[in-house]
Order: sequence, then C-alpha cells, then structure tokens
Amino acid sequence: MPHTNLRINQTRFLSTIDEMARIGLLPDEAGGGRDRRPFSAADRAARRYFREAAEAGGLRVRLDQAANLSARLEYDDEDAPTLLIGSHLDTVPHGGAYDGALGVLAGLEVALTLQESGVRLPFHVEVVNFTDEEGRFGYFFGSRALTGVHTEASIAAFLDAADEAEEFDDLPAMWAQVPGQLDPEAVLAARRPGDSLAGYLELHIEQGPRLEAANVPIGVVSAIFGRRAWYLTFLGRADHAGTTPMGLRADALVAAARFIAAAPERVAADFPEAVVTCGNVEVKPGVANVTPREVTVWVEFRAGTEAELDGIDEALRRLAEEVAAGPGLAAQVDARSSSHPTPMDSGMQSLIQQAADSLGYATHSLPSGAGHDAQMLAAITPTGMLFVPSKDGRSHSPAEYTPPEDLVAGANVLLHAVLALAQPSGQM
Ligand SMILES: [Zn+2]
Repeated sequence: MPHTNLRINQTRFLSTIDEMARIGLLPDEAGGGRDRRPFSAADRAARRYFREAAEAGGLRVRLDQAANLSARLEYDDEDAPTLLIGSHLDTVPHGGAYDGALGVLAGLEVALTLQESGVRLPFHVEVVNFTDEEGRFGYFFGSRALTGVHTEASIAAFLDAADEAEEFDDLPAMWAQVPGQLDPEAVLAARRPGDSLAGYLELHIEQGPRLEAANVPIGVVSAIFGRRAWYLTFLGRADHAGTTPMGLRADALVAAARFIAAAPERVAADFPEAVVTCGNVEVKPGVANVTPREVTVWVEFRAGTEAELDGIDEALRRLAEEVAAGPGLAAQVDARSSSHPTPMDSGMQSLIQQAADSLGYATHSLPSGAGHDAQMLAAITPTGMLFVPSKDGRSHSPAEYTPPEDLVAGANVLLHAVLALAQPSGQM
C-alpha cells in the first residue's frame, strides 16, 4: 500500500492540543478546567486559533450558516465528494482538554499532513468544528443543521435560549460574521446533501474506563447508544405506620427499593455492555407516619442495539411485576422517551481497524455510551468513529487525561483510515 510510512507531525499536533487547552482556562480557585461554552469569548478565541492554523497551512476556511467552522483541503476536481472529519471545540464549564478538541485538532493535523505530503485523494477533506455539541443552547446544533434535521422551530428555540444568555456580549458580533446571521431560514440552508459527501470520521476520547483497563490504545466504535426512559410507578396502600402489622402492608416504596436494588444485576447479567440508572424517586404521601401509597421511579437504560434495548425493556418489566407481586401492589410503566442506537458504518469500522493493524496498534470494538456529532452524521453518510483511552475514565472534568502517545496513535490511525478510504478497495 502506498504512503505506508506517512505519519502526522507529532510535535506540531501536540503543541496545538496544548495551546487549545489553554484557551478559556479557569484558575484552580475558580474550579479549574476550561470554559469554552459556545459563543463565549473563549469559544471565539478557539475558533480564531483553528482558523489561523488552517490558513497558515494553506487550507481554505469555510463558515456555514449554522456557524460550523471548517478547514478544507481541496483538490482540482470540483465535483469530487468531501470527506468530513470533525468534532467540537466547545466545552462544558470546567471541561477537560481533549473532549471534542482532540477530534478537530487531529483532523486539522491530518489535513496539514496530507497537504504537505503531496498525496492526491479522490475526495476533498474538510475538518469541521461543529457548533454547540455540548448543548449549551441545543445539543448538536451544528451537526443537526448540517444533516438537515432542524426545523425553523428548533432553530428558533436555540436562538431564543442563546439570546437569554446575558453574559455573552460577544454574541451579536459573532453572529454578524455568520452567513445569514443565524436567521432560522438561513440555518436550514446549512444542510449538506449526502451525495456530496464521501463519509464522516471522528476521533474522540473514550470518556470511559474500558480501553485503559484493557491496555489498548485504539477503540473502534461499533455504535452509539440508544436510550429509553420510563416513569415506573409502584402502587400500594397508605396505612397507619403505627397500627398496620408488617405482614399486612402494601408498601410501594419497599417494592420500588427492591426494583432499584435488583435492576443493575439483572441488566448486567444478560446485557454486559448496557447501562441502567434509576435517577430519581417520588414518594406519596411522603411522610414518616404513613406507609407509601405511590412511588414513581425515574428509570433510564441505554444500549448499542435495538435488540438489547428490547431485551432490557422486557427484563425490567418482568422485574417490576415480580417486586409488585404481593397483595395490594401493582406496577405501571409509563414510557417517556426513546432514541435509537446509531450503528457505525461497517465499512468505516473495517477501515479504522485496517489502519490500526497497519500501524501495529491493538484495538477493541466498543459502543459509545456518550452522544457525539457522529450520530447525526450517520443518518446521511457512512460514518466511523474511533476512541483513545481516558485515564480513569474521567471526562467533563479538569481531570480528563489521555497520554500523548495515545493522542498521536489516534491521529495516525485517523490519517491512515483516510488513506485507506482513498484506495480503490476503500468504500466510497
Ligand atoms: Zn465530545
């Protein structure tokens, strides 16, 4: 295979990671980490840094109607499709140095490396910083716009939320630069048709502990978790807490407690990659001297396939019936919301695998418990995602850390996945 020896410039790459990590930095006494919430002064500074680095490397900078900022490596054939590589430069408050920024800066480094190498690809390469991935005003605002799932109402809701954020004096100045100035109708025009794209690749930190525990530098993401959420209500009987003998009670909270204690084991036994959480409990009447009559538990579970979600759904309904089997007790499921799992494209998974193999890196196939821009892109173009380890699984925290050698490994695998896609055998 040609270009086998091509590698990213690791000194330049690691210094961009360091420099980006300093943008929006908060002092330790203010909680540490960095704050680059979208449209803040720090977000603008991060965008400026990305723009200048791209322009200095001879890439063409593009700002779309949803404020997605990208750097393009273009070849002569104007009609060639575009391979998107992306993630996000915005952070949560007190965020870490790598969540999102890694994917954008690794993409930038890959584009610069390709530019300098003189390699010619059958597609343009565009590195995208998506607007508001973290959902300050609306989750995945930028990638939703690019993939065409926004409505005028969803855009207006985002803009209203942003308008109310009084600390962001920079907002009007920033919006003035965006084509269409973030008018709802203009944002709809940020949509890119799937047939103009050659695919989407995203490198991200795992934000979980598995790769580190397995001592494996590269994760090939199989799917992004889908989620279902319930209000699960146990119905019992309110009785005098002093006069009702223990054997004659229908205590809804005892049933709920049995459910909460048993659910994690049930799910772990049959669905080892899935997760279940009981996040809240509402008790009626909620006083010490009356046995609980009605208890609502907020249940949510997530898994990488629809079959697993169905299986968990069934297992938890069965468990609810079991714990509410006593006289005077009943359980009711009120399914509140659900999202489908997003499988990653199998061709893209094999390209990432192939790239890691060719560079001698061990891999692990795993689903992503966290949401990413990739789950939006997967709806319109073949999408692949790769992870590098997160120390102690920490993320959304100043404690986020990935060793430099793993950052470099991830960027080189990304580079070689792009090269593999360009091979005649690579999928297009
Ligand atoms: Zn992220």
